[in-house]
Order: sequence, then structure tokens, then C-alpha cells
Amino acid sequence: MRAVKSRDTTPERLVRKLLRPIAPGYRLHRKDIPGRPDIAYPGRRIAIFVHGCFWHGHDCARGARSPKANADYWSAKIARNMARDAANLAALKEKGWRSFVVWECQLKQPEALKASLAALLSQTRAEPTPPPPAAASPSGRRPRP
Ligand SMILES: [Zn+2]
Repeated sequence: MRAVKSRDTTPERLVRKLLRPIAPGYRLHRKDIPGRPDIAYPGRRIAIFVHGCFWHGHDCARGARSPKANADYWSAKIARNMARDAANLAALKEKGWRSFVVWECQLKQPEALKASLAALLSQTRAEPTPPPPAAASPSGRRPRP
């Protein structure tokens, strides 16, 4: 039993499950990457964060919900989270990383999310150093549409 609450939450598991067939080999919660992304592909410099809509102030119905009790406390906490998220994304960008935020509400449409993730990962594959023409892959594998 794990008591560490911020790790291995169900949304993260779902995202990992979607990613596995697209691009295995991700790393989790690496401390040496700015913002310690939930999921990262160090070789491709892609960081993926899985955010709860309420905690990270998403612009959706769930994110807009504000608790009546201790409203100031929650709104301050969420504002801090959002500021930290923005700082993390900026730090990653500065280091040449691409970031992608998966919102909890997107998990309701896993196929759409999977398509976005596949697009993200196929985009970045070729990006850093284009292979010389001779190195073109003969395997003929290509991502499914
Ligand atoms: Zn949302």
C-alpha cells in the first residue's frame, strides 16, 4: 500500500495506458526534469502532466467549480498551483522541452486524447536531429491515423 497521494493517481494510470501502445519507454516523476513531470520522454524532450481540473484551475465545468466552504483558502491554493504550473512549463520550454497537459476531463474521451498524444509523439520524433537520408527506416512502420 502506498500512501503517497500525488503519485499513481487513476488519471495518470489511464494516460500511461493510452501511451504504452503509442510510445513505451516513458519515465515517471523524474526529479531531474523541471516540474518533475508525471510522464516524460527524456530522449524526445517531451513532458506530460496529468492535471486534475479542480486543483489546477482548468477552464471547464469541473475546474470552475468553487467550494463554498473556505473559498479563499481553495482559491489561493489553486492560484499557487497554476502559478507553479506556468513556471514549470516556462522552465521546460527554456530547456528545449515540449510540454503537454492532459486534463482530467479529457479522460472522458480517451480516443480523442489518445489521438492527441499520438500526434504529439509523432511530431516530435523527427524534430531534434533529422536523420540523414540513408538512415530512412526500412521497417515501414507508421502511426495509425
Ligand atoms: Zn477540465
